[in-house]
Amino acid sequence: MATEDRAILIARAKLTEYLTSNKLRKTPERFAILDVVFSHNDHFDIDTLYEEMESRSYHVSRSTVYNAMELFCDCGIVRKHQFGTQQAQYEKVMNSGNHHHLICTECGKIKEVKDADLMRFVSSRKYGTFNMSYFSLYVYGVCSACMKKMRKTTQNK
Ligand SMILES: [Zn+2]
Ligand SMILES: [Zn+2]
Repeated sequence: MATEDRAILIARAKLTEYLTSNKLRKTPERFAILDVVFSHNDHFDIDTLYEEMESRSYHVSRSTVYNAMELFCDCGIVRKHQFGTQQAQYEKVMNSGNHHHLICTECGKIKEVKDADLMRFVSSRKYGTFNMSYFSLYVYGVCSACMKKMRKTTQNK
C-alpha cells in the first residue's frame, strides 16, 4: 500500500477514536474534510479547504471547516501555524516533523526547507524536566522574488 493511502487510513482511525472517546458525532462532513486535508502535501488555509469542498460539490459552511480543523488539531492529525499576520495555515502532522519554514515578510510566501542537522540538534535538546513533543521553527526574511523587485524599484528612483 502506498504511504499516502496508509496515512489517510491512520488519520481516519485516529479521528474515529477521538470522536468516540470524546462522545462527538462521526459526521460524514468531518471525514470528507479530512480527505481533502490529506490531498495536500503543503500548507493550506481555511479558504482553500472551503473552496475545494465546494468544487467537490460538498456544501459545508466555513465555520464547519474551521471547527473540523480545530478538531483535527486537537486529535493531533493536523498542525496549525500562525505565520506573521496572515490567516492561519495548516498542514498534516506527519508532514511537518522534518522541515522548517522560511516566511517572506513582503509577500507572505512560505518555503519549506529541510535541514536534518538542525532538526536533530533541536530534537536532542533537553529543557529541564520539560518533555518536548514537537517544535516548529519559523525563519522570517525576504524571498528572492521580492528582493529582485525591491532592487528594481531602488534602481528606478
Ligand atoms: Zn510546514
Ligand atoms: Zn516575497
